[in-house]
Amino acid sequence: MPRLTSLLPRWLIQPDTRTVLEQHALLIEGERILAVLPVETARQQWPQAEEIPLPQHALLPGLINLHCHAAMTLLRGYADDLALMDWLQQHIWPAEGRHVSDEFVFDGTQLAIAELIAGGVTCTNDMYFHHDAVARAALDANYRMVVGCSILEFPTPYAADADAYIGRALACREQYLGEKLVSFTLAPHAPYTVSDATFRRVITLADELGMGIHCHIHETADEVANSVKEHGMRPLERLAGLGLLGSQLVAAHMVHVNDAEMALLARHGVHVAHNPASNLKLASGFAPVAALQRHGVNVGLGTDGAASNNKLDLFADLRLAALLAKAVDANPTALPAWDALQMATCNGAAALGLGEQIGSLRAGLQADVIAVNLAACSAQPCYDPVSQLVYASDRSQVSDVWIAGRRVLAGHQLCDAFADRALAAAQRWQARIAQHRNA
Ligand SMILES: [Zn+2]
Repeated sequence: MPRLTSLLPRWLIQPDTRTVLEQHALLIEGERILAVLPVETARQQWPQAEEIPLPQHALLPGLINLHCHAAMTLLRGYADDLALMDWLQQHIWPAEGRHVSDEFVFDGTQLAIAELIAGGVTCTNDMYFHHDAVARAALDANYRMVVGCSILEFPTPYAADADAYIGRALACREQYLGEKLVSFTLAPHAPYTVSDATFRRVITLADELGMGIHCHIHETADEVANSVKEHGMRPLERLAGLGLLGSQLVAAHMVHVNDAEMALLARHGVHVAHNPASNLKLASGFAPVAALQRHGVNVGLGTDGAASNNKLDLFADLRLAALLAKAVDANPTALPAWDALQMATCNGAAALGLGEQIGSLRAGLQADVIAVNLAACSAQPCYDPVSQLVYASDRSQVSDVWIAGRRVLAGHQLCDAFADRALAAAQRWQARIAQHRNA
């Protein structure tokens, strides 16, 4: 018999139906949520369950980070205060060319996972190279990772051309078929780094293999202007012509988007990953999140990589997204707390095609669950726990985390030793990378 655990929170939050339950228990059996029901009924039905009292806590589904480059934690603070193309071409791409390897990606991804778990993020939609190292890092840490396999036209130490990137992506996907915590998407980097022919190939493969696609789209005004110069049309029009738009696509950023394009995205069921901190730091602009939602586009929330945020803190970005949406829409009722919380939970799950597995707290779903302590002075008094979580909480209040039923954070402490190893590795990488940075 799998172990039975009964979580007894002060509030139990189901974002998909915007429900807050009190006096309810959440039963975990194995990797799944067995039941959500009144405490007394739970005790009668399953007297043998081990009870975990969480008397000052809100219980909610683990947050879902819809756009990240986890391994880039090792470049956190490496190059700040620069415009996107300068930052990429003069700093990030050369540093990646010098340092990125299986070892770099494994260590950087585990450093990211330690930060993500401690901050209540239980699933990350990643995009990077060395997919095998990302998958190994996630499985070793019992972390749910959607591994985006980067595809570019130009060579890096990882692959020589688009065909080679795609070949490595497919081989890696094959190797991990059947693993429950990791899955793979094809991740053509952006319209300005990927050719029409490669996009066509990606679309065909994604269709044949049932894979998702993850791509940066309309991140900066320059990207849009350059596409008009080079292709005679905006990137989204070009991608629509190629047949890329569909419900398998997660479009990261979508900052510069007009009404007709928002309608196009909605019509094709494209999902958008909104990255407010990264867009602010790189001065990319302000994604019109409220307008996207009015058009019916599903919008989730991402941190982007630690090199452009500089933290993988979805609680901070939840608050930022809710505040920013109001200013951008000149409307204080835009993106209310429930909508923001949905972005970081059930919307992210839907975008990844995982809506039947994660993103809320219901019987049958995977037990990806977090407990947030709302007893601190900064979170009291508490009239509305959802308001508190979005506007007045931070990640340091996350006390306990379960992923697929396994407790990975207990009383603010990570349960596995991988974080200590990742921390020691980060020190070694810092010494190595700093030498070149200062040279
Ligand atoms: Zn990105």
